[in-house]
Amino acid sequence: MSENTGATQRKRGQRRPKHVPQRTCVACREKEAKRAFVRIVRTPEKTVEIDPTGKKNGRGAYLCTRRSCWDKAVTGKVLERALNVTIDQATRDSLHRYADHHFRDE
Ligand SMILES: [Zn+2]
Repeated sequence: MSENTGATQRKRGQRRPKHVPQRTCVACREKEAKRAFVRIVRTPEKTVEIDPTGKKNGRGAYLCTRRSCWDKAVTGKVLERALNVTIDQATRDSLHRYADHHFRDE
């Protein structure tokens, strides 16, 4: 029965199909689990970084992969408000550059 106390066993049989973690895009407010969201994180140093792994510490905001959402969030106040931080021009530029490389216009 419980002869095996190792934590290795824990992962088995623990699937919970009911609860799929959902993300909300800060620009379009669309909730979706499937769409690949990109996490933007405000680091403890108050810088804003893209966090492709989703593992960085800090306050995070999610953007979907629509170019228009990135433009809206990065150019306007959406992302600043979501992260409660001021985003400087260099960071905005690098976010735009990231979008340029990764997302196509729809
Ligand atoms: Zn969006």
